[in-house]
Order: sequence, then C-alpha cells, then structure tokens
Amino acid sequence: MAVHHLQTTLVMIVIYLILTRQTTATTEEFRVSVPENVAVGQAIITLPRTQLGDKAELPCAKIMDGDPHFRFNVTKDCIILVANPLDWSVESAYLLNIHRGLYNTSVEVQLTDVVGYPPVYNDTCETPTNPKGGLLLSLKSSAEVLTTNQDVLYIRHLWYDDFFHPPTYDHWKANTNNSDCTFHLATYLSWADDIITFKDIYDNGLRQTTCSAGSDNHDLSAELFFTGGDEESRLQKLRKFLPNFIVDDVRDNIIVLFLKCIFPAKDAKLYSCNFPTFLHPPVRAFNSDARIQIASFEYVDVEVRPIGCPVGRYGFLCNKNCICKNGARCHGFNGACRCAPGWKGVACDIPKPDVSITTTPSDPRQIYTSRNVAFHCRALNIDAKVMSLRFPNGSEKLVSGENYMTVLVANMQPENSGHYICMVLDKDGLTLNATLDVLCPPNRKGVDCDEACDCLQGASCDRWAGCVCPPGWNGTRCQTKCPRGTYGKDCTKRCSCQNGASCSPSGGRCNCTDGWYGNDCGKPCPSGLFGWRCQQRCACKYNATCNSVDGSCTCVTPWTGRYCDQLQTSRARDEPLLESLIPLGSLVLLVAIVTAILFKTGVLACSVPETGEEEKILFELRRMEQDLAQTLQPGWLGRWEKKARHLTPGPLIGEGMFGKVRRAQLRTTGGRLDVAAKAVRVEDAQSYRDFYREAAILVAVHQVQEQDGNDRKSNIVRLVGLITKSAEKYILLEYAPKGDLLGFLRGIKNNNQEYLLENLLGYAVHIARALQELERLRIAHRDVAARNVLITADDVAKLADFGLARDVYATAQYVRANRPGLDELLPLKWMALESIETGEYTCQSDVWSFGVLLWEIATLGQDPCYDGRTQLTFLQMVGILRQGIRMNRPPGCPEDLYRLMRACWRDVPATRPTPEGIEKRLLQLRLALLIPEAIQIMETAL
Ligand code: AMP
Repeated sequence: MAVHHLQTTLVMIVIYLILTRQTTATTEEFRVSVPENVAVGQAIITLPRTQLGDKAELPCAKIMDGDPHFRFNVTKDCIILVANPLDWSVESAYLLNIHRGLYNTSVEVQLTDVVGYPPVYNDTCETPTNPKGGLLLSLKSSAEVLTTNQDVLYIRHLWYDDFFHPPTYDHWKANTNNSDCTFHLATYLSWADDIITFKDIYDNGLRQTTCSAGSDNHDLSAELFFTGGDEESRLQKLRKFLPNFIVDDVRDNIIVLFLKCIFPAKDAKLYSCNFPTFLHPPVRAFNSDARIQIASFEYVDVEVRPIGCPVGRYGFLCNKNCICKNGARCHGFNGACRCAPGWKGVACDIPKPDVSITTTPSDPRQIYTSRNVAFHCRALNIDAKVMSLRFPNGSEKLVSGENYMTVLVANMQPENSGHYICMVLDKDGLTLNATLDVLCPPNRKGVDCDEACDCLQGASCDRWAGCVCPPGWNGTRCQTKCPRGTYGKDCTKRCSCQNGASCSPSGGRCNCTDGWYGNDCGKPCPSGLFGWRCQQRCACKYNATCNSVDGSCTCVTPWTGRYCDQLQTSRARDEPLLESLIPLGSLVLLVAIVTAILFKTGVLACSVPETGEEEKILFELRRMEQDLAQTLQPGWLGRWEKKARHLTPGPLIGEGMFGKVRRAQLRTTGGRLDVAAKAVRVEDAQSYRDFYREAAILVAVHQVQEQDGNDRKSNIVRLVGLITKSAEKYILLEYAPKGDLLGFLRGIKNNNQEYLLENLLGYAVHIARALQELERLRIAHRDVAARNVLITADDVAKLADFGLARDVYATAQYVRANRPGLDELLPLKWMALESIETGEYTCQSDVWSFGVLLWEIATLGQDPCYDGRTQLTFLQMVGILRQGIRMNRPPGCPEDLYRLMRACWRDVPATRPTPEGIEKRLLQLRLALLIPEAIQIMETAL
C-alpha cells in the first residue's frame, strides 16, 4: 500500500513540476500533492536548480513560514521532507515559503484524504495497559475427550499467553482491526505433534469451526488450511480465504491455522466450539505418545483474555511503536491516539485551543479519602478573558484575564459529588468548556450518595444502578446465587447440566459430579474409571465391580479386601497389615524365596548379631512391588556383600540427618577402587527402611541389567556392593567426582547460555534414559530431581538416591504431608498432581518430576517457584495445580523446551510424554540448538 502511494506521489510530483512551475525574477512557485499518510522522513519534492543563471547553486536555508507546526523540513540540497505526521482533517494544505539565498521559493503542498487514515480510536475494544509487555491477548483452549481406549482425558492447550515473548512467536501473524474490533491470527504449525493432530482434525472434515459465547453470535472462528500441492494451487487456495498480509508469511507451509475473533471488551470470554462429537478416523492427540487417539470430543472451549501492551507499544505482538505524543493514549489494536486536552492531529502533536479540568488527588477513588480536594481549571492554547468553575450545586467561581485557576474544596462530602464544569471565554468571544464528574464516595449510591451499597461477591457499586453483580449472582447486594439451571449476568442464561452437576456462573460450563463426564455430564464413567470427570482408574481386581463415583469395589466370592485382591481366610483377619501389603500367594512365595536366600548365603547360619535385621529386610521387601521382589534372585544379598575390612572410608562428601556419604576405597581382586559409601547413621526404623529399599532396588536393577548385558551403559548409578554384616552398614556406589547435578548447575558461571543449554540437555537425555530403564522394571523413583542426579568422571548423568537420603527431606524442599494417616516429608514441588492428591506414584509421575528437573536445568538450579513463591504448603500446591497454573517459562529457555516441560506437567498422567518420547524430543532440541536448520529439515521430512 505504502509503495503504491509513493509511486502515485512521485508521478504527481513530476506532473505538477512540469505544469505548474512558474519562474519570475525573484520568486519560484511549485505545487505538490501528497497523500496524508506519507511516512515521516519521506521526501515530497526536490526543488530544481535555480534558473537565474547563477554559476553556483544556491543552498536552501529554512522554511520561513506556512508551517507553524513543523510538519516539514528542508535540506541544504533543497529536498523537502515530511518531519512530523500529517493529517488531512487538521490541515489539508500548506503554503511553504523557503528562503534560498536572495530568492524566495514557494511550495504549495496539497494533502489528499486517504480512506481509513488516520486510525480511529475505538473505545469498545480498548485494551488494558500491561507494563510486563508480551501480547495483546491470551488464548487458551481446553477439551474433554474420550480416547479409543475408553479413557476420559482433559486436554489443556495454551496457544498464546503473556509470558511468551513475541520474538519466539515470529511464525504467528496477526492483524487487528478496530473498526469492527476483530483480530486475525494465522500460524503455520511447526511442532510435529500439532501437525499430526491438526491433520487428523482436518481429515475429519473440520476445516471451519465456529465458537460462541452463550447466546452471543459466533464471534470466534477457526479455519484450517491444508496447503499441499504445487506452489501455485497452494497460493490460490490461501488467497481465496486469507488476507494478503498473512498469505505472504505462511505460503510455504503445510498446515495453516487461521483464527478470527471479535475482541472481548475488558473481561475474558469463554467460547464453546462446534467440534464433531465422533471422529473417523480417530485423532492422534497433542502428545509425543502416538498411542493416545481421540475417539470423540465431548467439548472444546477457547478462552480469550485481554492482556494489553506496555505504554508506547501496540499491535498483536506489542511490537509496533506508538506515535502518540503529549500524554495521549495509544490504542492497542491500531496505534490510534486519543489526545490529551490541548492537542490534536494523528500523533497529538499539534496544539489546539482547549480547556481542561483535573483534581488533586487525581484518582477519583481518593477524592473522598483525602480531606481536601483541589480542582484545577486550565485554558490551553487560548487567551482566556473569563474563566469560571461551576460546582454541582450551581454556584460558580470566576477569574478574569487568567489562563489557570485552582479552587480548593475543604472537607469533601458526598453532597459535593456531581458535575464540575470549567468554562472559558476567550478574547475573540469563543467559549470552550470541560466537565468532570465526581462520583459518590465508594460504596455509596443515590442522588445524594446517602445510601450504602454493601455489595457482596466483589461487585462494584454504581451510583444509580446500585450493585453491579458478577455473572452467577443476583439480588440488590448480589447475595443470591443464580437459581439452579441458570447462569450468566442477571442469571438470564439456562444451563443444561445433568446428574447434579453445577454450571459455571460465567460461561455455563458444567462441573460434573463424581462419576460423570461429557459436555452436559450426561455420560457415566466408562468401565474401569471413576471420580471427578472419570480421572481416576479403578483398582478393583478379580472381576469386582467398581463404583464409578468413589471407586469402591464390590467383590465376587471368594475375594475380599479393599481391592478384592485377598482371599477370605481367617489369616486375613489375624494379620491385616501384611494382607493389605501383598496378596497371600506372593507372600508365601516371597517368604520362601527370602528364607532360601538367607540360608543359601549363610546369613541365617552366620547368625546376624542384630536379630531384628532379617525381619527388617523382610518387611522392606514386602513393601516393595511383587514383581520387583521376584526379580531378586536367590543369593542376591550374599552376592553383593563386601567385607567391611576391605573398605577404607575417606572424607565425607554428603551428609544429612539420617544418612551420610563418604568417599572411600574398596580393595578388590583387581586393585583399589574409588567408591561412594552411603551409610545409615541413625539406627531408626525409617533409616533402615530406606537403606534396604535402596539396596534391594539397586540390586534388582543391576540384576536385570546384567541379564540384558547392558549394565555398562546404564544411566542409573552403578552399585558396587553392600556391607550389611558389620555394625556400620554401607551401600557402595561408583564414585561420581563431579558430584550432583544441582551443585553442578549452581556452580556454572558461563554466560553463553545457548552453548550451555545444549550441553546440559545432554544430561537430561541421560536421565530420560534412566527413566526408560525404570519403566521397564516398573519402578517409580518418586524423587527425580537435579539433587538426585550424579555426574560421573566421563560426564554421564546418572539417576541416584533410591530412598536412603531421607535426610534431605528435612530441608525446605520437602513438605510434611497432611493427608490423614500419613506423616512423611515430601518433595512437593517436584511431585505430580496425583501423587500429591492420592499418594499414587507411577512412571508417569516420575515424568512430571522430570519436567521440573528440566526447569532446574533451564534456570541453572533455581528453586522451583509458582507465582513467585518458593515456599508452598500442601494445600496451596494442590490449589495452584488444580487451577492449571504451572511454572513459568524460564528466561532464555527455548519455546520448544518449555513446551516439553508443560507436556510433562499435564494433569492426566496418560497424556504426558513417555520417557522414550522425551528422549527423542530432547535429542531433536539439542540438534536444533546445535544446527538451527536441522529442525526445519526434520519437520519437512515428516
Ligand atoms: P544422596 O544421599 O544419594 O542424596 O547423596 C548425598 C550427596 O552425597 C549427594 O548430593 C552427592 O553430593 C554425594 N554423593 C552421593 N552419592 C555419590 C556418588 N556416588 N559419588 C559422588 N558423590 C555422591
């Protein structure tokens, strides 16, 4: 557009120069026509050489007159430039007089009106000011889906939020148009999972989706373009539907997502979208784990929330500079300026005759709290003959010959509220005025502001309307909840939730009671699931029926117990603890195995002096997974046992309340070996339990690795041996000279973050492999965190601490659980939502903690924090996570890495990426950091 105007301008300039140049002895006259939106800095005319026969060219000096507001500049070479923005409605023509040696040159500049210029300030979609910067609005979508495996999943997708910095979102193209308050957003998809998902959605015929907020019109629509084919047909297709500015940016990409939305005024708006209920073929979910396929969408909601740009910026990405001057407000959509009193023009930089009225204090809410209020009346850019300030009670204060007056109202009272009018009569008889409305004091209403509002639910008090209730509330003081079945402002909307579900007060989204799901909560949980939105998995065994509300099991004979996994025998009643720990069959097996082990290894025969020890081991083994206990082959303890006299303990390298780690040397047949010796220091039940659990898990892991022949490649810290027969008991581990990852991260001083990150992600890859090993063994680590990762001499990260180091649980990173019947210290900020809520630990909950470990890496070992808080109680943490709040993207962290973290922190464990998927993704990310083009190549290949 601008280029087009420029060309037109130049052609016109030439024509005018030919047609209108008239030369006299001392005066030259020129005319030029320019569009009003000509850019600042643009040349509008180059004056030709003087025709007076001078040998030397006369330089131009300055514009003598005809330009009172400095719209133009002239260079020595006689080029006239635009110096400040032009505005046809303010001044449509200028007659410039230019001094040139002894001669005068006059140039008539005629402005032409340009449609759509200057941009208009539209109050309806005025955006808030947000000093943090970022984006004009945030977009979040959430959906409830049924998978082909009959799982109910709740998917949340953050498209756009204020904490993403615009440069990382270059591939989002946006256009805002405030004449109808719409914004258009287009992006091409670059994340492989998104491409797969959207392709599937596209194949389901969902090219065009509309979304509506209650009874409102469909003011949010999304379109998908699958732009395969040759360049020309692809372009044609895009051009047909998309604005040109977008087509040029997204033309080379396969899938383009285009959103069009009417900007919500002030508050967030929730839209429900018309996705198809049944999908053929199923949609592969937004997840590295392609096993999850969506069979039906129960609902899809999109929330659009206004955020706003910092002062001086506008546009969807807040990346355009406002031109507004002299205290003008700049519209977030199009940069239109709303001028302060006394200014006009597209940039509010041309003075105009005006009057202003202000108060001190300036905030109207403080007027009544400050005892004395000053009213200031100003005449701007005019010479006032008389100035008056009229009070709400009709009285007036006058001054003459002054351009400024201040009136002090002492002891401001409610009856002082109303209109204050400042009026100015100037010397030419022109009158101008400005009005200021002083509202009632807070919480007051009525003609005389003498009635109290006392609104509830945070409602605002309007002088005339009284309490303005938020959606979902009614009554003079907003004391009444909307009647059941209704919602929205003034409870005018009807909701259709079933089975005792309530509906959200603003959007009407159904909040199902336990045991139900679906758009209107009309569907009972699929078999095997129970609880709120069927998010929990039944644990009932042996054909028992599971209650879809609370997951309780109704057993079939002869089974009994909470999960119907125990046989009904008298033993069960006698030994409830053991029975609840493991099924009877495995108990017998386990006792047999352990007894055999103990005899075979001579432990029993050697008679351990502390007679309680075998029992401690037995007890600990029973607490473990049945599968794991079975992997412990007879003789395990003896095969790993080392002699205490072969160990030479060295300096302490890690210490806590219950355990301590020493660097030590172990005498072996092959020579002396550096080891880390972990010892129990305090002989209490907890320390022993941890000691034996860690020993048994490490033995099990190593046995399986030995069988598979890949023990050397493992990313789990290597077990060297155990010393259990001496008074001081040790777990002997390979010595990792670089210590733990947390200390390593915190010790990094290098500023080259990208180089660093690419190296550090190597450690993350190692731990993702460790998680794969644990997944194969069906062991949950429960405490994946940077402090529990060790770095070996050859720079390999290994997962360590399988339970001994409860000592660190006493530090701030571990919070005491206050679940009934539970008294343990938990690494709360690393724990998955379900682990906090129900104490359930799985490989998927380890994936959550791995996401936190990634965050620790990206922040070089900072303390995890939510909303700027590092110390959180059990309940606060649950509340935060349940609201969908997650840790922010660390500064400098690549967007894709943050997306991976967020994927690890999904509510529903099954939707989190698998350790294998994580490893793949991390390798891609590392590659992309090393060779930025690599990611492009990989995605094109997809
Ligand atoms: P842990 O009890 O496993 O958490 O260990 C406590 C601290 O001792 C760790 O943070 C490490 O600094 C150190 N440590 C533990 N195991 C080793 C090892 N195998 N090699 C070197 N340092 C270790």
